[in-house]
Amino acid sequence: MDGAKMPETAPVLILLGPPGAGKGTQARMLEEAHGLVQLSTGDLLRAAVAAGTPAGKQAEAVMKAGDLVSDDIVIAILRDRLAEPDGAKGVILDGFPRTTVQAEALDALLADSGQRIDAAISLEVEDAAMVERISGRFTCGGCGEGYHDSFKPTTTAGTCDHCGSTDMKRRADDNAVTVAQRLEAYHAQTAPLIEYYQAKGALHRVPAMGAIDKIASALNAIVAQVKA
Ligand code: AMP
Repeated sequence: MDGAKMPETAPVLILLGPPGAGKGTQARMLEEAHGLVQLSTGDLLRAAVAAGTPAGKQAEAVMKAGDLVSDDIVIAILRDRLAEPDGAKGVILDGFPRTTVQAEALDALLADSGQRIDAAISLEVEDAAMVERISGRFTCGGCGEGYHDSFKPTTTAGTCDHCGSTDMKRRADDNAVTVAQRLEAYHAQTAPLIEYYQAKGALHRVPAMGAIDKIASALNAIVAQVKA
């Protein structure tokens, strides 16, 4: 494949932001609007934990504590996922990279296939609001749609608006103590990536305290610009 042409047809986007910033919600909306594929290392790790794989066994306690899983494990999981063919139309990385080591590994992985990062989008939020955002959230086990007790409730209590499933899930690490640790890990290890992508000229800052649709419009504009 001609690597130089990849960015036009297969954008690679990164969503940066602390837990609760709305990365997952926005990634799903971009997926629907642009046919991109959301790759969430958190989802991949939760699947590995549920399946009881060796990586999942190592990751489980670390995730429960709100710390970051080792770079080796996460990079290997992402590398395998990126190798699957469904990302050909482009990918949105949600929750990866989270350290400089991961960012450099991603650059190397993409360079191997003639690709590069098209945009790193930093969702800018206030820490103080994140605990409330996270503690109220839940996801439909049927289709993965995300909800929130206060900000985005289901129309009928306990039933997914999208697929009608009543299998609603709350994450084990979405509690106040773990969230505080996750925010700390974000500021210590992930926030420096904002500078990393700024230096590459790939950074877009998007205010993300407002309405979900307004934030989505800002992201759509960035994707349109990247695809142009
Ligand atoms: P998330 O679903 O993105 O909030 O991730 C949930 C948890 O999975 C995090 O608190 C980390 O323990 C782990 N995790 C997810 N992605 C990464 C990553 N890129 N590097 C290290 N740990 C990760």
